Amino acid sequence: MIFTPEKRFTEAQTEHYYKIRLDPYKLHHSKGMEYRSICPLHPDGDNPNALLVHLDDGHFICWTKGCKGHDIYAFEMGMLKAEGKLHNVDQVIASIENILGETLTKKEYPKAEIIIPGKGRDRSRASARYLYTDEDGIEIYSAWRYEGDPKEVLPDRPAIVGIDPEESIADGRIWGYRGARRVPYHLPDLIQSMVVFAVEGEKNADDLNRAISQYIIKLRQKTGKGLRFMNHFLDHIAVTTNLGGALAWQQKYEYGRYFTGKTVIKLGDNDGPGRIHDQSFCEDVVRFAHRLYKLELPVSEKQDISDYLKDHSFEDFMALWPECGLYEEKKPKESVFGDEILTPKPVMVSPHELMSGETTEKKWFVHKLIAEKSKGLVVAKPKTGKSLFFLDIAVALATNTRVLSIPSKGRRVKVGVISREDGPELVYERLDALARGRGFRIHDLKDYIKVNTDAQTSSFMIDNQQHLDEMAAWIKAEGLEYCIIDVLNKIHNGKENSNDDMGLITRKFDELREKSGAQICVIHHSNAQGESRGASSIFGWADYTFKLESEIEDPDIKKLSVVWKNGATLPTRYMKYVQSHEDTVSQILLLDRRQ
Ligand SMILES: [Zn+2]
Repeated sequence: MIFTPEKRFTEAQTEHYYKIRLDPYKLHHSKGMEYRSICPLHPDGDNPNALLVHLDDGHFICWTKGCKGHDIYAFEMGMLKAEGKLHNVDQVIASIENILGETLTKKEYPKAEIIIPGKGRDRSRASARYLYTDEDGIEIYSAWRYEGDPKEVLPDRPAIVGIDPEESIADGRIWGYRGARRVPYHLPDLIQSMVVFAVEGEKNADDLNRAISQYIIKLRQKTGKGLRFMNHFLDHIAVTTNLGGALAWQQKYEYGRYFTGKTVIKLGDNDGPGRIHDQSFCEDVVRFAHRLYKLELPVSEKQDISDYLKDHSFEDFMALWPECGLYEEKKPKESVFGDEILTPKPVMVSPHELMSGETTEKKWFVHKLIAEKSKGLVVAKPKTGKSLFFLDIAVALATNTRVLSIPSKGRRVKVGVISREDGPELVYERLDALARGRGFRIHDLKDYIKVNTDAQTSSFMIDNQQHLDEMAAWIKAEGLEYCIIDVLNKIHNGKENSNDDMGLITRKFDELREKSGAQICVIHHSNAQGESRGASSIFGWADYTFKLESEIEDPDIKKLSVVWKNGATLPTRYMKYVQSHEDTVSQILLLDRRQ
């Protein structure tokens, strides 16, 4: 690459240069392609909005000391000067070349990244940082994108001194966003815009924002007017998204209210989680927007607006707009989740049902789903996803998060997982993905989930007294409160159709409970009819039985029935198993049929 001061830099080079050069100076989005940062050109600059830079044409202006220029050449010269370095033509060009040679996505580092326990990843290695701000442009949290396999986008926020644990703080920041107010991406821009596009993910938002902004600038240079939309000429259009990806647009975050009175276009996403994003977004925003449209892109499965813009012009994109479908609120029961209608809440109930109400003194691990001091059985056909479901319950208990929208204990619970069916790799992958699905990392589980697989003990047979005593001692030593055993037929030598054999096995479970102090939940394969296979003594042992079935038309949708020994039943629940690209994030979502 040869540059001369006279030669204009391309828009891509200019944007690339500023993103790297101003990264240490809190570069953040303002509107369109206008970004703001601390001004590094004059001494003692710490106002995070002092410098305004146009990431496409390279203009910059500083509002505190009047530093200004019309391209990155002028900017780099100012930078070298401020850094006390030589800054003649050759040196400025060499320095720009050097910076443009650095890729945003494939920086190379002399040393391997060290992930410090509790402090997490090295932020300087992130390929991009996406800033989420309040109405005034003050950062609430950021998302850091890391390339590599798997790709990660990790949130963090400025640490609150005196509240956040000191050992987790690095450079004044703390990973995660717990306690932070949730805001949509580019909030100040969103508030100022009449027309808003919504996409999935920050990279898509940035790519589309750049395309729109560049188009409008050119249009204004040519015609003196903005982009015509209905009866208005717009000088900018906001592009927004949410933190956490496809599954994290939820009404409880109250994103919808920021769309009040706006014309909103949701770009459809061409994969499973993306379609869930479309649905949760539209159901939320339709309550506030002036009009809400959905626009499906003519791209193949798993492709998105960033892919589309790579080989289409902005005019191509605009030509699709008349295809927008007006989204209207769906009537209840028109939902895609099948034909069953939930029975209305009864006014008169049987006496035993009174005891499953709020008045009961029963203590719960998961409110009205899993009681403390009770023995559980899970019955499902092989491959129904019962292990995944109970691993998700383990993660929920361990992180004090909700199970199917139901609050768990109110504090973190220590859970044991005795996995005698699946090996360590599979259990690890599943726990990792489920933890991410709940906004945690597997490291966050370390003191609250303990796992036993064949890699820890080659054999665990509950009818072997030595195995039982040893396991009970470990559970007790770890202080585990709830222990999931997966799966019954792998942990005994009895005959499952023999009531005598199974009576003995269930007494062994009781012995394990007593000796370990943990509540036991046993996972059991059902027969083809979905009933508990084997002797009735297995079924009789349990205080509560979970029955899990896959829906025929969509095996990712599961039907969950819960029966208590005292005859109480809970409303049947439907859940959907969803996974991100590359299966790195898993969630089990409650489908609410009343909606
Ligand atoms: Zn300045």
